[in-house]
Amino acid sequence: MPFDPNRLVNPLLLTLKPYQPGKPIKECQRELGLTDFIKLASNENPLGTSSHVTGQLSQVFPEISLYPDGSAFELKKALAEFNKVKEAQLILGNGSEDVLKMLIQTFVSDNHQILISQYAFVAYKILAQGLGIEVKETPAKNYGIDLDAIIKAVTSITRMIIFANPNNPTGTYVNHQSLVEFMNKLSQDILVVCDEAYLEYVTAKDYPQTLALLKQYPNLIITRTFSKAYGLAGLRVGYGIADERIIDLVNRVRQPFNVNHLAQVAAKLALEDQDFVKNSIQINEHGKKQLSEGFSKLGLTFLPTQGNFFAIEIPVTDVDVFQALLRQGIIIRPLAPYKMENFFRITIGTPSQNEACLKALKTILQKEKVV
Ligand SMILES: *Cc1c(COP(=O)(O)O)cnc(C)c1O
Repeated sequence: MPFDPNRLVNPLLLTLKPYQPGKPIKECQRELGLTDFIKLASNENPLGTSSHVTGQLSQVFPEISLYPDGSAFELKKALAEFNKVKEAQLILGNGSEDVLKMLIQTFVSDNHQILISQYAFVAYKILAQGLGIEVKETPAKNYGIDLDAIIKAVTSITRMIIFANPNNPTGTYVNHQSLVEFMNKLSQDILVVCDEAYLEYVTAKDYPQTLALLKQYPNLIITRTFSKAYGLAGLRVGYGIADERIIDLVNRVRQPFNVNHLAQVAAKLALEDQDFVKNSIQINEHGKKQLSEGFSKLGLTFLPTQGNFFAIEIPVTDVDVFQALLRQGIIIRPLAPYKMENFFRITIGTPSQNEACLKALKTILQKEKVV
């Protein structure tokens, strides 16, 4: 028989498509021959990185010939103080996706199942199926997670539930009361992972105070990241907060040097500069208003958001909106991988980036005579 790796592969992988990241600026420059691009495709911080980080990071360059501190003592200490939790309640990852992967590896084996919602962040499915774990998807309600549908879908093989709050790509959120009621209905033998990647941007007053719930619900796990409001997406640092018995188990699958030295130093510095985070939130609030008013003027509908991005519907038939915007130097994210036809995700940028995006959209819509 001829060699065929498809016969050897983990069968769950055959149904997966590789994760499609936001199109990098350099790739756009190579392919389109334009020099100026505005990337509103990956929910990165439009202010870049705090100068408190960039100004000092070079001082540790001479140390990169040494292995990083595998226990990340300094960063963990800072995070424990910041979140008012014990260091033993923290696990660090090479991005929060690494934390999610470790959680699945630790607790879910191939005779168990993970529940996620329709329109959940696609990385969950890729991570789980890559580890040979089946994922069951429950229907969404108004594009948001339907916690009742999740409860109904629980069976004896359900081991973990993962959801982002607010969710990417829809921007929808679950409030405190609903989360508490949900946790009360659920057996503590089912772990609930609440991915709070966009926590800093949330303005809703009834957003869950998950840290306060950890004592009462030891099966609750929180993940957070330095990739968004902290402006460190390229360095890859995220973390999980949970009951220390959970963390102790997860530590057994952690690669000893999973968070590199520069990332550890940068994350600690980034945490120190809360003014930068405040600024980022302000810019986001301004942009949220600017874009929502602009979209409405163009007659476009969008989902209300608690994040730094909008899911917007652009019902244009004859033009590939993504490509047309790319030709005008704007990179956004089509939501076809989520089966949200005609929907796109646009990251909230600086005022001038938002203006450029609205202008480019207007040009496309005028050509289409939709406006
Ligand atoms: C961006 C994002 C993350 C962050 O992932 P990192 O690995 O920490 O960069 C996590 N979850 C969701 C839902 C996101 O959108």
